Amino acid sequence: METPQSPAKSSRDWHSASADKALEWQSSSADGLSSDEAQTRLHHYGPNRLQQAQGRPWYRRLLDQLNNILILILLVAAVASFLLGHAIDAAAIVGVVAVIALIGFIQEGKAEQALDSIRNMLSPQANVLRDGKRTTIPADELVPGDVVLVESGDRVPADVRLIEARRFRTEEAALTGESVPVEKHIDPVAVDSDLADRTSMAFASTIVVQGNARGLVVETGRFTEIGKISELLRGVEKIKTPLLQQLDRAGRVLAIFILGAAAITALLGTLIHDQPAADMFMAAVGLAVAAIPEGLPAIVTIGLALGVQNMARRNAIIRRLPAVETLGSISTIFSDKTGTLTRNEMTAQAIWLGDDQFQIDGIGFEPKGHFYRVQPNGEKETAQVDLADSPALSDFLRAGILCNDTELHQESGHFQIYGDPTEGALVVAGEKAGLATSDVRRQFSRLDAIPFESDYKYMATLHSVDGSQRVIVKGAPDRLIEMCDSVATTDGTIEIDQTEWENRIHELSSRGLRVLAIADKPAEAIDGLDHHHVETGLRLLGIIGLLDPPREEAIEAVKLCQQAGIRPVMITGDHASTALAIAKQLGFSQTEKALTGREIEAMSDQALEEIILEVDVFARASPEHKLRLVKAMQAKGGVCSMTGDGVNDGPALKRADVGVAMGVQGTEAAKDASEMVLADDNFATIVRAIEEGRKVYDNIRKTITFILPTNGAQGLAIMLAVLAGSVLPVTPLQALWVNMVVAITLGLALAFETGEKDLMARQPRDPKAPLLDLFLLWRVVFVSVLLLIGVFGMFSWILSQGGSEALARAGAVNMLVTGSAAYLINSRFLINSTLSFAGIFGSRPVWIAIMMVMLLQMAFTYLPFMQLIFGSEGLSLEHWLAIVMGSLVIYLLIEAEKMVWRLLKSKQA
Ligand code: ATP
Repeated sequence: METPQSPAKSSRDWHSASADKALEWQSSSADGLSSDEAQTRLHHYGPNRLQQAQGRPWYRRLLDQLNNILILILLVAAVASFLLGHAIDAAAIVGVVAVIALIGFIQEGKAEQALDSIRNMLSPQANVLRDGKRTTIPADELVPGDVVLVESGDRVPADVRLIEARRFRTEEAALTGESVPVEKHIDPVAVDSDLADRTSMAFASTIVVQGNARGLVVETGRFTEIGKISELLRGVEKIKTPLLQQLDRAGRVLAIFILGAAAITALLGTLIHDQPAADMFMAAVGLAVAAIPEGLPAIVTIGLALGVQNMARRNAIIRRLPAVETLGSISTIFSDKTGTLTRNEMTAQAIWLGDDQFQIDGIGFEPKGHFYRVQPNGEKETAQVDLADSPALSDFLRAGILCNDTELHQESGHFQIYGDPTEGALVVAGEKAGLATSDVRRQFSRLDAIPFESDYKYMATLHSVDGSQRVIVKGAPDRLIEMCDSVATTDGTIEIDQTEWENRIHELSSRGLRVLAIADKPAEAIDGLDHHHVETGLRLLGIIGLLDPPREEAIEAVKLCQQAGIRPVMITGDHASTALAIAKQLGFSQTEKALTGREIEAMSDQALEEIILEVDVFARASPEHKLRLVKAMQAKGGVCSMTGDGVNDGPALKRADVGVAMGVQGTEAAKDASEMVLADDNFATIVRAIEEGRKVYDNIRKTITFILPTNGAQGLAIMLAVLAGSVLPVTPLQALWVNMVVAITLGLALAFETGEKDLMARQPRDPKAPLLDLFLLWRVVFVSVLLLIGVFGMFSWILSQGGSEALARAGAVNMLVTGSAAYLINSRFLINSTLSFAGIFGSRPVWIAIMMVMLLQMAFTYLPFMQLIFGSEGLSLEHWLAIVMGSLVIYLLIEAEKMVWRLLKSKQA
């Protein structure tokens, strides 16, 4: 492939040339390139991609493994051992440290890879004209000469010369540092203008905050302005979550504690038992080595990475790693309604005109169905309505097709809507009545448009009709009725009766239908349509009710939330009655009252905080309201997730504990501001991610509670032996061996555990609660003592039978490891019983780990060179029987302890 280069074009001053000139320079046209030409250019220029920021190089990652206080202590111990003449010990310590660092390195590498591949799932798309048709392609396939379409919320995919722009503003902070949006238009600017003043251009990676535009791609990839500033678009995030930081801190405290204990032990040993200082120093080193859980950080990292992968498999893409932990403590899910809780498959079902009411049958986007008149008493007539008999209906449906940006396509027998399904439903309704969309749009050509925005809640278009102009507006009915002063009826235009229409709107929306109103007015030769042209003096044509049924999975998910102590809250732009009706169908708890955007505005922050726990439905709400709701809920101690799709949702998404962007409907701006992206826009996915988050946290807690007692028992064993002036039951080197084999086998198993059955029957975790609470600390101490008894018991028993010290130590070490393996089964459930077939045998990873650790122990015990290094000796069957019995007793005692906790808990409840 040729080296990508930017030919003549780099010398061009695109910003000061006219749009036509720019097209000519690029040998392109307003209809864009052909696919073949684009392919050729892609080959020539290379992909439209910035060099990804490189992660840490492998040797840095390896070295970083050593940058851990616990490992450093070990290395110091190795040097000290060597200086004191214990060369084998020193070598073995270094060997084990190397193995532990290597494992950490490999696992961290895997975790980073997993995150990278997930990041790739979010690669942006671009809307482009190819072969004269609008299509969506991956943004990195754009080439100079392409014509792209961008609109509010998009990230500009390359540097473009604007050739058409409507109320187009971009936020260029990524490029110029200026966060105030810049107004853009197509007029050329002075050749020497600064980047910030080149208003005829839109630059790659800036965000469109308003309007829409067409632009000619002039530079791609590293030749774009952003590419020139830095090859590094977004740095690779380091895997350091609050949890890992907390663990780091805990590690440091633990290290100081262990060092203190080791020093005191050595000192006492020297003073009380008159032991040689060098021996005591080695004992202190041994204590430190034994008590330090070297493998823990790597195991926790892998647990988090596994969580991220599982979530991605279930359509929840994590953009920021800490979200994995936070998800587990979410107590409120603020969710959009349309498309998230409902299917966003709109079907028009009912129409009210000035003096007529209709019902439409058929469901979905297939334009098959009929219209029936409804009598004033609510009865449906049996005869189908013909458009020829109802010019008012025909006018209404036509207006719905015109004030509309969607297209209906049939693809392999399946009807599909391109654009907003709300608008799609109007096209389908028109087609059902026999109106051909393309004919209608050709007949009344569009001169200008104001696209729909949640803040205004309407869309308006300007058309030329028989030489004159006409404005058509459609939008939220309560909003539109304020803008109307008259209504169209069969007998002509009459004054609007607001109350009557409010009743009609209420009737439709309380059936759960999303209601739209359509209105029009003649216009006087307007140049461009503006809000002030449409906000007064409209004539109402009618209202239409669209059915958008709840998602089945959402109903289930709402139920699950309620069991799990999580409150789902709906925030919607829809009418309060519609929202409440849907909330009822979904099974929300509080569906008596909805709070509207206006009511929120009238409230002080304090008043909002007081009421927020009592309302589950917020209607007619705009993005600004979302931010206030999140703040109020957080003030009440809630941990919230918030969904969003638009540019304006940014602040609320950022403020929420876990901002959730829609992957399908969502804008780049929303994705940018959020921690998680839903690949399927589905509410149920959020709940599944929370479940996974709870599981990850649970597994991490289990892992830590599992690993610490092994270290505790060894540390205590060495300490007690020194203090008692007796021989060590476990040598420092053996302790290190135990730490290593436990960390690479047993310690990993719990990260793979599936969630416990009652995971979603518990209340959300208090985010302020410490990782290891009193209960777990107790468990660590309790099991440490059990293992300690096992170790000393086995050691003294073998000695009392006349066995050598080496044999007794081999017994003690195997007792420790086998006891830990038994405790691994206990640890599958922290408090629930594992005394069942599923409890004991239900986890494959646990048994694989146990098999592996036993194999390693066989090697440790029987292989001659291992015996040489570690000073072990072959055990007899009798010894093994005793070890297995001892382990069984440990297992049962821990199950008994759990039972006591369960009893205490049920008494409390
Ligand atoms: P949710 O927040 O549940 O996803 P939403 O964001 O779709 O709902 P909005 O898009 O703000 O809600 O819509 C609010 C109201 O605006 C709707 O009830 C409808 O009456 C009207 N509306 C929605 N889409 C359009 C559109 N494309 N054109 C005109 N009016 C619309």
